[in-house]
Amino acid sequence: MEDCIFCKIVKGEIPCHKVYEDDDVLAFLDISPVNPGHTLVIPKRHYADLLELPEVEAQTLIARIKKIAPAVISGVESKAFNLNLNNGKIAGQEVGHFHWHIVPRFEGDGRELWHGRPYGEGEAEAILEKIKNLIK
Ligand code: 5GP
Ligand code: ZN
Repeated sequence: MEDCIFCKIVKGEIPCHKVYEDDDVLAFLDISPVNPGHTLVIPKRHYADLLELPEVEAQTLIARIKKIAPAVISGVESKAFNLNLNNGKIAGQEVGHFHWHIVPRFEGDGRELWHGRPYGEGEAEAILEKIKNLIK
């Protein structure tokens, strides 16, 4: 896609620190890392988000993440990572080309995820009813 930063990176029009590349997938260091080694993994073809991504591409991406992530975390002497997917603008997606974030984690790095709160009386059941009826 013409105006997409990540398509430009795929085409080599914008430079990146390439971690891994094959015919279908590109992984490169995030320009503004949450932690050292923060890597973005993208399909070379343009899909806006997870819901547009064909299942076969999703399978390929997961397979590559399983290959790349151990190297990423070992390379920065980490033992764990978060695999983040911001789907849609309101969820924090800034670049409209599907991508997964591999974020290496370190003890006490302060990057805790959001905090939950328990459902109120009957709330879970009411929500569940609506969701279940919408699954096609
Ligand atoms: P999002 O918020 O869409 O889930 O994440 C987009 C990520 O892309 C951000 O973490 C941001 O730092 C990264 N990013 C944006 N532009 C560029 C770029 O030109 N090069 C690289 N390497 N990363 C970028
Ligand atoms: Zn794109």
